[in-house]
Amino acid sequence: MVIKNDPTLMFTNAGMNQFKEYFLGNGVPKSTRVTDTQKCLRVSGKHNDLEEVGMDTYHHTMFEMLGNWSFGDYFKEEAIDWAWELLTEVFKIDKDILYVTIYEGDEQDGIGKDMEAYNFWKKHIAEDRILLGNKKDNFWEMGEQGPCGPCSEIHVDIRSAEEKAKIPGADLINNDHPQVVEIWNLVFMQFNRKANGDLEELPAQHVDTGMGFERLCMVLQGKQSNYDTDVFTPLLQEIELVTKQDYGKTEQTDIAMRVIADHIRAVAFAIADGQLPSNTGAGYVIRRILRRAIRYGFSFLNQNEPFIFKLVHTLSSQMKTAFPELAAQKNLVVNVIKEEEQSFLRTLEQGLLLLESIIGNTQGKEVSGSKAFELYDTYGFPIDLTALILRERGYTLDEKKFDEELLKQKERSRAATKVDTGDWQILIDDNEEEFIGYDNLSTRVKITKYRKV
Ligand code: ATP
Ligand code: MG
Ligand code: MG
Ligand code: MG
Repeated sequence: MVIKNDPTLMFTNAGMNQFKEYFLGNGVPKSTRVTDTQKCLRVSGKHNDLEEVGMDTYHHTMFEMLGNWSFGDYFKEEAIDWAWELLTEVFKIDKDILYVTIYEGDEQDGIGKDMEAYNFWKKHIAEDRILLGNKKDNFWEMGEQGPCGPCSEIHVDIRSAEEKAKIPGADLINNDHPQVVEIWNLVFMQFNRKANGDLEELPAQHVDTGMGFERLCMVLQGKQSNYDTDVFTPLLQEIELVTKQDYGKTEQTDIAMRVIADHIRAVAFAIADGQLPSNTGAGYVIRRILRRAIRYGFSFLNQNEPFIFKLVHTLSSQMKTAFPELAAQKNLVVNVIKEEEQSFLRTLEQGLLLLESIIGNTQGKEVSGSKAFELYDTYGFPIDLTALILRERGYTLDEKKFDEELLKQKERSRAATKVDTGDWQILIDDNEEEFIGYDNLSTRVKITKYRKV
């Protein structure tokens, strides 16, 4: 999951990353046909699902992408036939809950509808279940230049019969409906995008597919949420035990529990794969994920002592057959997470004390935006936590002033040295600084901050 030798990427975010050289023609694969499972992490750059995670029931930070690959071997027809066979004959998924999409084409590129894919799908599925998809969803490109091609996605509609009667499933595809979800993407690499933007046919055509393992489990186990499958239930049960709260009682605790069940996987596997939490680059991404989990536990599950590290045991015994690296490094993973929890909880506690004194010194019912900003900027106390506490205590926050201060701060940061690490950007002043800040959970605050120690 952790990428060490590619300056354009910090973490594997799709099954194809490791095969890039074969598609570019710079390497020769040992076999022209491969199937695999690849741990992926989608928390930065082009694929960033972090804000969705916990809120919905089918986007994770870390997930397994199942894939089958053809490097200049079989192509569109076989890929479609075999995908259909696997889903409907091997996995025995009811054909009536499946939909597929094909690329609608693009005038500028001079390519029309992917009629080949359409005709291959037509052998298996009713034509009104084959939908057209746009460039964003149904045309895959590795970058500005290089191999690219149309793709076909497979979606499932697992709503109850009653729900299905209300709106046709086709209307809900690409609509973020939690029970009408994409499970598999078949990419047909048949073009090369030239430097001038033109497309030319590739001499050898490739297949690259990706299927979300957790989503597949949801379908096969007849559940309506990935978190109700046995990928997540052992973790959720452990969280219930440790926090003495029940999953399925209130929306807020459910979100918190999903966030923690998801994030422990991302953090534990990142550490086992060699990426420790730190102040910069990929390490900072991992720290930020862990802090998001700590913060949810602190605010919504009353956890002010480290507890997330306790989940490592459950996770590593769950995963030991498929991914033995976790069990092999369990002690390290446990210790790193526990220390991170201790230190961030101290920050949260200090912040709470300061917030108390701010409230104590407030005349009236509105708390100063500059004071809240100071708490956020200097002590790394999450602003949404400040807002939440103030609301609970019957106070409001001068958000306008807070935003102004934030904007000023951003401008100051912009002046600092910019270091680019792939598609994740971090602002650093110099090496002598220690990170104490914390990114807001809302999208409003997207900066990373540092303070001289
Ligand atoms: P979505 O539209 O649901 O965000 P996607 O189109 O971004 O998915 P692809 O890049 O096509 O996903 O990845 C291939 C497959 O990986 C998807 O069909 C889906 O099953 C799975 N997948 C993608 N993102 C996630 C995620 N964040 N968590 C779990 N599974 C995912
Ligand atoms: Mg996506
Ligand atoms: Mg999609
Ligand atoms: Mg897709």
